[in-house]
Amino acid sequence: MATNKNNLTTSWGAPVGDNQNSMTAGSRGPTLIQDVHLLEKLAHFNRERVPERVVHAKGAGAHGYFEVTNDVSTYTKAAFLSEVGKRTPLFVRFSTVAGENGSADTVRDPRGFAVKFYTEEGNYDLVGNNTPVFFIRDAIKFPDFIHTQKRDPRTHLKNPTAVWDFWSLSPESLHQVSILMSDRGIPATLRHMHGFGSHTFKWVNAEGDGVWVKYHFKTEQGVKNLAPDVAAKIAGENPDYHTEDLFNAIEKGDLPSWKLYVQIMPLEDADTYRFDPFDVTKVWSQKDYPLIEVGRMVLDRNPENYFAEVEQATFSPGTLVPGIDVSPDKMLQGRLFAYSDAHRYRVGANHQALPINRPRSEINNYQRDGQMRFDDNGGRSVYYEPNSFGGPTESHENKQAAYPVSGVADSVAYDHNDHYTQAGDLYRLLSEDERTRLVANIVEAMKPVEKEEIKLRQIQHFYKADPEYGTRVADGLGLSVPQQVK
Ligand code: NDP
Repeated sequence: MATNKNNLTTSWGAPVGDNQNSMTAGSRGPTLIQDVHLLEKLAHFNRERVPERVVHAKGAGAHGYFEVTNDVSTYTKAAFLSEVGKRTPLFVRFSTVAGENGSADTVRDPRGFAVKFYTEEGNYDLVGNNTPVFFIRDAIKFPDFIHTQKRDPRTHLKNPTAVWDFWSLSPESLHQVSILMSDRGIPATLRHMHGFGSHTFKWVNAEGDGVWVKYHFKTEQGVKNLAPDVAAKIAGENPDYHTEDLFNAIEKGDLPSWKLYVQIMPLEDADTYRFDPFDVTKVWSQKDYPLIEVGRMVLDRNPENYFAEVEQATFSPGTLVPGIDVSPDKMLQGRLFAYSDAHRYRVGANHQALPINRPRSEINNYQRDGQMRFDDNGGRSVYYEPNSFGGPTESHENKQAAYPVSGVADSVAYDHNDHYTQAGDLYRLLSEDERTRLVANIVEAMKPVEKEEIKLRQIQHFYKADPEYGTRVADGLGLSVPQQVK
């Protein structure tokens, strides 16, 4: 008799005779290897985990939509942004950076803020954080930086000495460190934080004219943060606090939303702006490039299955659509390789064919085979190009916009080395109470650093951002600002 939906079946579809007792020789056993259902059940269980993400391992996700509220078609030809009122489905994954999958949500850490827009021209991923800048600005430093954030190889403990050693020797981190140590370093919930594309991207319109662009998602719930003592208590009592809050809010119809804004910079300004606009440790002042509204993102549906949708979701800043190109930002350029490479390793070469990652638009190409190719693999269609059998062909109007490059191929830093002005601007925009808490958070975090030389080096960076900032951190640590910086 054919199986029906109430029948428990094996993964090959045959009805299971017993799912509670293994097959044994006699009631005492031993267990028989011919119990193929048992073998398959145990073997599949052993393979339930895919490799954990090296960064951003702990995450929560939700489905939603994006609605255009302002006409930006003079800047970009991206179809999903083409007219006011247009809606595009999307999936968002929020995450902490350093902790393992299962670590506490309410820690001081940047939050990943990754959005996958399922547009009619393919997927567009905006893979940013809840801060507008980053610790480093060249991808070649990323593995070392992350080593300092993860566990010490000997003790398997977090290592504050490594963290501050790296930061103090990488002064470009100062701006992001200041944001991280401020109140916003521990958001109250995932709903109460902003999101940023962080990098500079390029928008290109239908005429082929480009502008540089930066993205800001502003929370409509308002910014709220957790005091460190409250966050520590919650971390112990409910390590999944943020994950639970997001799920419950959406489940009860309290739908979180963000307004998307962009800053637009004419291409030629990049040569003369007082900061290198491609340096991801810097913001563009909103006084120079004011926010322009684009639309609204609403999260309205929880995943049905965490593994299928959140764990298997793969985002890459290289997942672009016509009208949106990259910039020379060196950190972005490295991520264009690293993210997709991580997905090919973690989920497999065909990760983009999984339901959560699969575009809602047509996919026509000559990629074939690979592990876990679970669709028809192109069937009998033509499998090479060029061909004489009517296979899909390129459309030149969708090439990335050409731009001139020149210079000497060399390993060099960005020309601009002012790591202090913007960190100081941030310090100066904080209220007295916010400054007091910022300094207290830094002092608490730096106390366990084993070498005084590291503390003194870092104090000089704070001092260069603002003498008051450096002096207060030094006082808190019972040290003096080194004479050479004064
Ligand atoms: P503006 O005064 O035009 O903008 C200040 C920005 O800081 C706003 O986006 C504000 O938006 C945000 N902000 C306010 N309070 C805090 C806080 N406690 N922690 C972090 N961000 C805060 O000045 P500029 O654009 O010239 O920037 C001055 C400094 O502001 C920068 O050096 C940078 O550190 C910081 N900043 C700048 C951003 C930018 O894109 N220009 C973005 C975020 C911060 P809101 O209160 O809605 O977050």
